[in-house]
Amino acid sequence: MRKQALITQLFTSYIILVLIAITLIITISSGVIETFYFDQKTNDLKVRASLMEGILTQQDSLDYSSLQKFSREISSVISTRITIIGIDGVVLADSEEDPENMDLHNDREEVSQALVSGEGWSQRYSFTLDQEHIYYAKLIILDSTDLILRASFSTEDLDMALRSLKYDLITIGVGIIALIALINWYISRMITRPIQVMESGARRFARGKLKLKVPESNIRELGSLARSLNEMADEIYERIRMVTQQKNEQIAILSSMTEGVIALSPEGEILSANKAAASMFGLKSKKMLKRPLYEVIRHADLNIFVTKVLQSRKSTQTRISVFEPEERVLNVIGNQMPARKGAFAGAVLVFTDLTHIQKLEGVRRDFVANVSHELKTPITSIQGYVETLQEGAIDEPDNAERFLGIISKHADRLGQIIDDLLELSRIEEISDEDEKYFKPTSVEGLFDSALQNYHVSVKQKKMTIIKEIEADLTIDANQKLMTHALGNLLDNALKYSEEAGHITLRAYSNGKKVILEISDDGIGIDSEHLDRIFERFYRVDRGRSREVGGTGLGLSLVKHITRIHGAYLEVESLVGKGSTFRMTFKSKK
Ligand code: ADP
Repeated sequence: MRKQALITQLFTSYIILVLIAITLIITISSGVIETFYFDQKTNDLKVRASLMEGILTQQDSLDYSSLQKFSREISSVISTRITIIGIDGVVLADSEEDPENMDLHNDREEVSQALVSGEGWSQRYSFTLDQEHIYYAKLIILDSTDLILRASFSTEDLDMALRSLKYDLITIGVGIIALIALINWYISRMITRPIQVMESGARRFARGKLKLKVPESNIRELGSLARSLNEMADEIYERIRMVTQQKNEQIAILSSMTEGVIALSPEGEILSANKAAASMFGLKSKKMLKRPLYEVIRHADLNIFVTKVLQSRKSTQTRISVFEPEERVLNVIGNQMPARKGAFAGAVLVFTDLTHIQKLEGVRRDFVANVSHELKTPITSIQGYVETLQEGAIDEPDNAERFLGIISKHADRLGQIIDDLLELSRIEEISDEDEKYFKPTSVEGLFDSALQNYHVSVKQKKMTIIKEIEADLTIDANQKLMTHALGNLLDNALKYSEEAGHITLRAYSNGKKVILEISDDGIGIDSEHLDRIFERFYRVDRGRSREVGGTGLGLSLVKHITRIHGAYLEVESLVGKGSTFRMTFKSKK
């Protein structure tokens, strides 16, 4: 059904009512007036006839001509047609027509009634005058003869008068309707205007503009409706604000989490996924939404797990391996998502990246094994020689001295390993944010203090030290640690070079960076070992390293020291040609 505007409904129904009322008033009143007017006219006719009777009875002569004269004169005075008819029906006189031309009138209804009962009425068409007439006939008894006096008037005049009256009434009616329509329009608008204003206000609310209020009408009911609408808008605004705030908090929490979180519908469709979850699978979180998990993440184990979580509706966990975009081990906890009245709203999956922890665990395991192994060799050796001494070798002075020398060497080695381990763990505690450790330091000074500890070895091995150090180069450094690191590199260059080799100490700046290099022309390192030589206890050639007093911890110390200086350590080496260890520092601002 087509809906109409309130103003149209109010206006049209009111106008229809007024129209009906005015039409009824006009119809009824014109009927009443017509009857009244008709009665007046007929009464008048009767009164006039009686008056004429009085005059007629006083007439001396009643011949045709005097009767004719009488009828004409009286008729002109009282504006009524007068006919005088003999009781035989012959028309004796007529105010409008020549009686000669008129036929016998005793068959006329009013005349025949008058002849019987003294008076008669009729309304009919007059062929004489060619008009509808109302006739009144009265029997007049005179001394000489009896006559019928008939008075009549044309209903046309009456009709005309009534018609003009009706026109007047209709004109007034139309005028009244127009006036009422105008007033009605104004009143209807007064009622509907505030409703329209409220309606557009409610639409604004629906569009979310809850701060723009609906103006209050001065019609009481509409005013309180507007107030209620405004209160409702305030309430909704407050709720939306709270919900948005909660949602933002949740988003902030979820996106700052390192754990991946995915919410699933009961059908397994992704409802939300945080950044961490997306990046674990190399995806974009927005592209994951509203799609089934099995379609987005093609991982058989995960999908079996999700099906189990959704079906059992219990908290479960598993561990999965992911190979794309990089190799990871993830712990997945699947939990039921809380919903109202025990309904099942879906599940939440929480992914924890265990890759790093697993690596650390491996490193720790290796480290413990390595340390144990490194310590075990000298200890076993010491124990062996102590036992040999106890079993009698102590009494053989030559052997005893040699054995004690070996025991002392191994004890030194143990001490060296423990010192390096302690140094390493101490350095691991320092971070590059510990500013108190770092000061602008001369690069040349650092090389010099590192060299100081190796003068004897350099001399013994007949090594040549070449210095290519730019003047006035400084870096933010911890003097002691850097001396230690450069010392280790220098020590290696000495250890892994043949006699009379060359060691170059180089330092230069390219504006943005300061680069420190220690190169040798020693034995070099095979490329397969280059990635691993910085690991703790890793040695290319265990025997040689041990022989030259290495612990396998030197380069890992250098690496840590470089890292806490915010610098970068790399190595280039060719077997038989030599090695270059390079530290790249950010230039001081
Ligand atoms: P080590 O105490 O055994 O020297 P490092 O951690 O200092 O332990 O070095 C690890 C291994 O890297 C050494 O065992 C050695 O095989 C190799 N290496 C280090 N520096 C050099 C170098 N300048 N030339 C050749 N090999 C080197």
